[in-house]
Order: sequence, then C-alpha cells, then structure tokens
Amino acid sequence: MKKAIPYLALALLVVACNNSKEKENPNKSEEQMNNTENPLLSESTLPYGAPDFSKIKDEHFMPAMLKGIEKQKKAVEAIANSKEEPTFDNTVLALEKSSELLSRSSQIFYALAGSNTNETLQAVEEEMAPKFAAQSDMIYLNENLFKRFKTLYDKKESLNLDAESLKLLENYYEDFEIAGANLSSEDKEKLKEYNEKIATLTTKFGKTLLDANNAGAVTFTNKEDLAGVDEDFLKSKESKDGKGWTIPLQNTTQQPLLQSMENRASREKLFKAAWHRSDQGANDTREIIKQLVEVRAQKAKLLGFNNYAEWSLQKTMAKTPENVNKFFSGLIPAATAKAQAESNEIQKMIKAKGQDFKLEPWDWNYYAEMVRKEKYDLDENQIKPYFELNNVLEKGVFYAANKLYGITYKERTDIPTYQEDVKVYELFEENGDQLGLFYTDYFARPSKSGGAWMDNFVTQSKLYNKKPVIYNVLNIPKPAGNEPALLTYDEVETMFHEFGHALHGFFASQQYPSLSGTAVARDFVEFPSQFNENWALYPDVLKNYAIHYKTGKQIPQELIDKIKNSGTFNQGYSLTENLAGSNLDMQWHTISADKKIEDVNAFENEALNKTKLDVVHAVPPRYRSTYFSHIFAGGYAAGYYSYSWTEMLHHDAYNWFETHGGLTRENGQRFRDMVLSRGNTLNLEKMYKDWRGSDPKIEPMLKARGLK
Ligand SMILES: [Zn+2]
Repeated sequence: MKKAIPYLALALLVVACNNSKEKENPNKSEEQMNNTENPLLSESTLPYGAPDFSKIKDEHFMPAMLKGIEKQKKAVEAIANSKEEPTFDNTVLALEKSSELLSRSSQIFYALAGSNTNETLQAVEEEMAPKFAAQSDMIYLNENLFKRFKTLYDKKESLNLDAESLKLLENYYEDFEIAGANLSSEDKEKLKEYNEKIATLTTKFGKTLLDANNAGAVTFTNKEDLAGVDEDFLKSKESKDGKGWTIPLQNTTQQPLLQSMENRASREKLFKAAWHRSDQGANDTREIIKQLVEVRAQKAKLLGFNNYAEWSLQKTMAKTPENVNKFFSGLIPAATAKAQAESNEIQKMIKAKGQDFKLEPWDWNYYAEMVRKEKYDLDENQIKPYFELNNVLEKGVFYAANKLYGITYKERTDIPTYQEDVKVYELFEENGDQLGLFYTDYFARPSKSGGAWMDNFVTQSKLYNKKPVIYNVLNIPKPAGNEPALLTYDEVETMFHEFGHALHGFFASQQYPSLSGTAVARDFVEFPSQFNENWALYPDVLKNYAIHYKTGKQIPQELIDKIKNSGTFNQGYSLTENLAGSNLDMQWHTISADKKIEDVNAFENEALNKTKLDVVHAVPPRYRSTYFSHIFAGGYAAGYYSYSWTEMLHHDAYNWFETHGGLTRENGQRFRDMVLSRGNTLNLEKMYKDWRGSDPKIEPMLKARGLK
C-alpha cells in the first residue's frame, strides 16, 4: 500500500463541506511559541533534511500546519490578484512553491499519525481534516487563480516550456477542470450542491454500514454450534452476560470464521448475517445507494461527461470505462472457469467427507481449507526459520536492488528516529553517490494502524535540491527479548512490496515535487511495488537470503516448490469475487444521469448476470453493493479495478524480465530509466508501452494465478 496524505491527494479532489461558518480556534500553543522553538517551521539541518525527531514534539504540528495553511493562502491570493500578465513563473511555479511549509510539516505529521499515534495526534488529525479540505477549495475554486491558469494553458505551446514544466501546467489545469473551475457561476453553485449531497450521502453510508456491521454480529449460545473455532478466539468473544459468544462481522462477504466452523447451520447463519447486514431493517443502505449513484451521474453530466466513471478516470492509466470493461472481459472467462474447477474439487471433498449436499458459498472456505491441506501441506512453522527479518531485508530486498540497480546501503545510527524500533539506512548509487535515507519501521505496536505502507518524509525535487527520505511501515509481531524475528512468507512479500514503492520514490528525478516519484494515478502506483514482489522467489535472490537462522542452511527446494504451488491455490475464487466487486463498481458508475434506479438488488443481479460473473453459484462478490464501502463511503468509486489492473501490469512487466535475462543490471537500469525514475511526468500508458514494447497483456497474470 502507498499511503497518500490527504492534502497531496489533490487529483481526486472532493469539494466537501461549507466551512464559511467555521472559525479557526485560536491556538494557544501557537501564541506561546515563537518560530525559533518550533523545529517544523524551518528546514531541518540534518543530512538530507531528515526530520529531527530529537526536537519535534507533538505540540509543534498544529501550529506549523496552521502556519503552512496561512502562508499558502497568502501566496495564492497574491498570485490570483496579481496585476502582472500571467507567466509560468509568477503563476504555475508560484503555486507549486506555495505549499512548501505545509507539505513539510504535514508529511511528518501524517507519518506519525499512521505509525506512532496518540490522543494528542488523533485530536490534531480530526481538527485538521476539514481545514485541508477547505484548503483544496480555496485553490481550485478560486476564479481569478483559474483564469490565470487558463490563459497560460490556452497558449501552452507558445510558452517554450520544457516538457516537465508543461506537464506541471497541464496537471494543475486538469485538476482545476476536474474540480469544475470551468463551469459558469450558476453551474458552480449546482456543483457545490451535488458535492455537498455526495459528501452527506457517503458519510451516511459509512455510518449506516458501521451500525449494520455492529448489529449484524451473530451470537451463538450453544458451544457445540461453534465446534472447530479457536478457543482463545472464542474466549475473547464471550458475551458480557456470559451467556454466549458474539462473532463480529468483517466488511467482506466471506467471514474468517467460515474456514474453521464445523457446523454447517452455523456457517449458513453467519454467512447470511453478513450477506443481509444492510439490505433490510433499520440499517438498510439501498436508498442511500440509489441517491448517491444518481447524484454522481448528475455531477458527471454537469461537468460534461456521460457518466461518473468517465469523469473520474480521466487522469488514470486506464482512461475510460471501455478500457476497464475490456480488461474485465479478458479475465472473466478464465477466472470463472478456474472457479468452476475449484468448485468441483470442493464438491468432491464434501462427498469424500461422507456428506451429500450442494456446495454453497458458506461451505467454500471450510472445504477449500481441506483441499489446500491435502494438496499443498504448507506449514508456516517449517518455513519461518528461513526468513529471519534482517536476512530478508539485507540479503534479500537490498540484494535484489543491488543486482538490478547497483544500489548499496549502510546503516546510520546517528539519525534520530521517532521510536526505538525504527532503523535508518543510507542508500548509495553504484558509483557511490548518495541516493537517500531509508527508514524501516517493521514491528507492530498498539499506536500503529494495521497493514503496511510507504511514504516520504522528504520528497525528491530539483526545485528544492532535495534527495528523498522515505519510510516503510509493516506490522510484524515483535519477538520477545533478543529472539530473532522470523517472518511468514506473506510478510517477506510485503517487505519486498513496500521497498518497491520506496524504489519508485528513490529513483524519482523530477524538477517539481508535485510530479515526483509516487505521485501517480491509483491504477499505476501499486505497479512498482507489486512488481518488486517478484524477486522474493527469484532463485538467485532466494538462495541468498532464505537461510536457516540457526543452522545457516539454505531453504530446501521442496519447501520452495510448496510456496510456489500454494500461490495458485483458490485463485479462481479470489479473482472471480474480486472481478464481481470491480464490475459492480463500474456498472454503478456508468449509469447515465437520466437513469432511475428502482431496485438495488435487481440492478446488482443483472450487473453480475450480464457479465457472466454469476455462473459459479458458490462464488459471491467480495462485496455486495449494500456493504461496498470502498465505492460508497471511501475514495474508490469507479476505482476498485485498480487492484487487478496493477496486478496485470506487474506480471506483464516481470514477463518481460523473464524473457530478457531476468535479474540483470542492464534490465534494471532500463526499467529505472524508462519507468521508475519518471514520476508523473509522462502519459502512463505511453510510458509503459515504450518500455515494454507493447501494451500490457493479461496472459502473464492468468498464468501466475494458475488460470492458464
Ligand atoms: Zn502498495
């Protein structure tokens, strides 16, 4: 995952709430503190401008970010009200520079808010969220400012700009346009109304779903009904009155417990609670969905598009809903055919266990687990001793990067960190030049959000003469005392993944920070990271790092084969459920503004039926519309396809490496020069094609998933 801090995610601008009534709270600490005491207000004097965590305190963030907001406001007003003819320097460059303090302070703030938070930081986060939204409005709905950009944009060819400066102008202009700056003032008012409605409805969807998830928790009063479920887990779920066990719902259709529950009726009960959590009763979300897709369609129409997806895909690699649908149609037959084969195999297992019923969705994971054990018999405890954390990082992740890109590393113990488990490495180019600083924050702790991510403390830019300072965050359980940290294969892959994002940031070679490194579209940003996962099982790399922490012996081939084989397990199911979700998303967001939705469930059934995603009875969509929070509460409307899109890219890219000699310096350099170093300065589709020699193909992805 790549975490984007809200302010920098301007491309997907949400014009949210009306802040005109909001008065800024006078902030005491700001008054008490003068500039020299707040380390965030000036550039750090540490190497690479790394944040000086020996001086930064929680109370520094709010005043620094407020000052950053104020500074930017003044700069924007000065640009917008300037009497001078607009030029690239006095308008585009001036806006780019207006966020220096705000970016610096908020980058560090959001890093800590994600990985080492506390009540103070949480309160700051909550208070700042509407201010950041208002800051976007302040820029993108400023008519005078937009006029100056439009003047420049309309004569962009005659400005004699270098390619990256031209891209910067275009990028800003498109953001203005996407936000509706081109509309008449009457239509702008309409747009504001739509945006407010959308914001209200998405918030309402999120809240209703939260209630639905809570209300949908299933209580079992008879312990026999929970046979097979882990005892420790059950202990933690005992009802307060001691009369049963309450199983909470997770946001997906399938529930984790369905894998271990032996009692079929209990499985059905839990599954149906999940399936119907929000299509009936007090927490029914169907009315919200109807209104939301309609107002999104109207908004798109107002902005000159046939549907919402057309509008929102403009700056992505896929570009149009047609391209996304074409991509789906290439995958659906192979995915559902494999799912059907898996379904048959599971049906056989049911029979082998002396049962005689037709496989239903609530049976899938329980019997699939039996199939998995029989076919693959992969035991994590057998593998883990070969994946010691430091070996994986230094002899695996760094080693692969050395072979491909020539980079080397050295640990730096003199750079202050925000937490004792965080380590800092300095990375170097092949010729010894400095590349940047890399922080690893790998261990789980209560103050850290779940999952794994990468981001920058300092973004590369020639404008500010900055080399990147980058961190990776994971959630590996911390071993007791001086015990070594032994990883699961999933964790190994995650480490390679996040370092793939890091390389995208380290190799950035841009003039302007807003185009630098990972500042690319959602359906591209996970490509370099997923691609880097491929080296984890590459024979030369694996041999180098997968060494038993006690015996020093290399991992045996038999275990490697098991890891590889198990990678294709259940892939028909997982791709089909994912495509069903992605397809629902795309269909909800390609309706036209005059379409009235009568029945949400009927629309959903039809959407799955006409794309043949319902042919395998026991494979339901990963999310039903009624609880698809990514698209109705989160920022993934018309964007859920990105996950499988980048999967296609990375397998296709790895296929190029495989057919061109694999892990070599030459191949790595070419990939770095043509892709990883380019940030957001090129048309992504063309950039990929120029490097690959053709458009991306889905065959390598199908093969990797065992679907071909
Ligand atoms: Zn990622």
